[in-house]
Amino acid sequence: LSPDLETELVVLGSGPGGYTAAFRAADLGKKVVLIERYPNIGGVCLNVGCIPSKALLHTAEVINEAKEFAKHGVKFGEPDIDLDAVRAHKSDVVGKLTVGLKGLAKQRKVQIVQGYGRFTSAHTVEVTADDGSKQTIKFANCIIAAGSRVTKLPFIPWDDPRVMDSTDALELPEIPKRMLVVGGGIIGLEMATVYHALGASITVVELSPGLMPGADRDIVKPLHNQIKGMYENIYLNTKVTAITPTAEGLVCAFEGKGAPATDTFDRVLVAIGRSPNGGLIDAGKAGVFADTRGFIPVDNQMRTNVPHIFAIGDIVGQPMLAHKATHEGKVAAEVIAGHKAYFDAKTIPSVAYTNPEVAWMGKTEEQCKAEGIAYEKGAFPWAASGRALAMDASNGMTKVLFDKATGQLIGAGIAGKNAGELIAEAVLALEMGADMHDMSLTIHPHPTLSETLNFASEVAEGTCTDIY
Ligand code: FAD
Repeated sequence: LSPDLETELVVLGSGPGGYTAAFRAADLGKKVVLIERYPNIGGVCLNVGCIPSKALLHTAEVINEAKEFAKHGVKFGEPDIDLDAVRAHKSDVVGKLTVGLKGLAKQRKVQIVQGYGRFTSAHTVEVTADDGSKQTIKFANCIIAAGSRVTKLPFIPWDDPRVMDSTDALELPEIPKRMLVVGGGIIGLEMATVYHALGASITVVELSPGLMPGADRDIVKPLHNQIKGMYENIYLNTKVTAITPTAEGLVCAFEGKGAPATDTFDRVLVAIGRSPNGGLIDAGKAGVFADTRGFIPVDNQMRTNVPHIFAIGDIVGQPMLAHKATHEGKVAAEVIAGHKAYFDAKTIPSVAYTNPEVAWMGKTEEQCKAEGIAYEKGAFPWAASGRALAMDASNGMTKVLFDKATGQLIGAGIAGKNAGELIAEAVLALEMGADMHDMSLTIHPHPTLSETLNFASEVAEGTCTDIY
């Protein structure tokens, strides 16, 4: 059977990993076909992830700041929320970026084929369009960038519209009176921030002993303290065992200390994680190994067990983050173009865009302890930062961890306003091999929140004199 289309490179999936790989490969002279099941390219991140959530979080931030401003002597009154306009702002941001991406694909002559792709052999993918028509694409190389999907707990009544996953929640169907967020990780807590600012009463239930289990406890504490007073309940060490739809609401059963046996909510958001799509693309027909969970293992050049087939992004493993996917996409494209590229990033930063934000990179203290790494720590509370006080953002802290033997930076965590922006300096310092003295001798502009990295390093060094 002759293929309908033949190309040097097929990229399966157009998320941040896929489109970055496609664009980079095209820039390096490759003929590229990008397969995407949905009409818009950009994947989860652009359409139902990073970008729409950040548009809504900005709305939430403005509402929160306006409320908090009353204590500075300026009262704005109760917000008058037009949900249609809030949704429109979010869609407008997403729309601008998807149109931009299509333009960038066109400029590079990256051919977008819409439909669901499955391998039929080690050199062919069959794409089924929405109308059922099929075409076969033959490739010399392939990059699998098919991402991940929401993990669905089996006992949850998903057919009830009051039960939402993150994609449903981003649609802002309404502002419920009482909402349960199942999962106290980044996605659950970001959506809780949005719905709370818009007026919902929030209860969070988390299976682990603490919110955002991957981060150090002291970095999560400012967030926990802040939301403890604002949310109706936060149940830790607790699981939801059943959700029963009734006319009055969703009756949720809990198992855990401190939680009631049942409680009734108007809506439930389930945000317990994401599952990779490696089991849904007939990878086996190409000889590509995917594990039982759907992850596709790769080497440090993003190569699968089949040498001409690569994989990137959420489908290759944790952390499931857009900036990891884009970086991996570039590596895969460059390797295919004959460059000696490798994935050797020293760290991939994590950020929760909550109120306050929580960001961390490199080793956590928990990891250092578990791995027996001797470290020096410097922590600077934002209550001692003039800029933080001026911005009413004193509920933050900056922490740096240095290798005890070499003095090199090995980790950092920041909680507070704009922590997600501030952590980038620590990432650069780690990549450059900076040590305690590099960080404490670097003159930072005053008064800024970025100074807190400088001060925390001085604390570790024993030279900190700054409280202002
Ligand atoms: P994806 O973005 O998952 O894209 C895969 C694409 O492949 C999709 O478009 C899918 O339709 C397509 N596809 C899959 N299978 C097929 C097939 N067989 N045929 C054709 N097309 C197919 N990350 C951050 O770094 N920062 C954030 O702030 C952030 N916020 C998030 C908020 C939410 C609510 C969610 C859900 C996620 C968030 N993430 C965030 C995670 C981020 O979205 C993912 O890590 C990122 O999108 C992964 O990129 P990817 O390229 O691996 O795949």
